[in-house]
Amino acid sequence: MIYKDFKKKCNIIKEMSYKITFYCSACNTPRGTQTASGIPATKGVTVAVHPSLYSKNKEIYIEGIGSRKIQDKHGVGKNVIDVYVGDCAKCECNDYGIKYCDVSGL
Ligand SMILES: [Zn+2]
Repeated sequence: MIYKDFKKKCNIIKEMSYKITFYCSACNTPRGTQTASGIPATKGVTVAVHPSLYSKNKEIYIEGIGSRKIQDKHGVGKNVIDVYVGDCAKCECNDYGIKYCDVSGL
């Protein structure tokens, strides 16, 4: 599981860091892989941001995670980026924890 590496790579809290959380189709009920953009959520691509930061398909770079595209919105804090990690039957997102990473491109 590549996300295990996140623990080492990005837990450095800086002034401009965003809180990084993780979601999958299993915990994204009742929407599953549906996103606000209409594009199905894709592992390695999709992130959800606060509606005030939303710009469809805009590419951002999350330190320690990589490039992702804004394809979804979430209803939590403005400084939170929710990273989509997979279409699965059972959610393992809690195992990924919460990270604080620098983000560019927003
Ligand atoms: Zn999940």
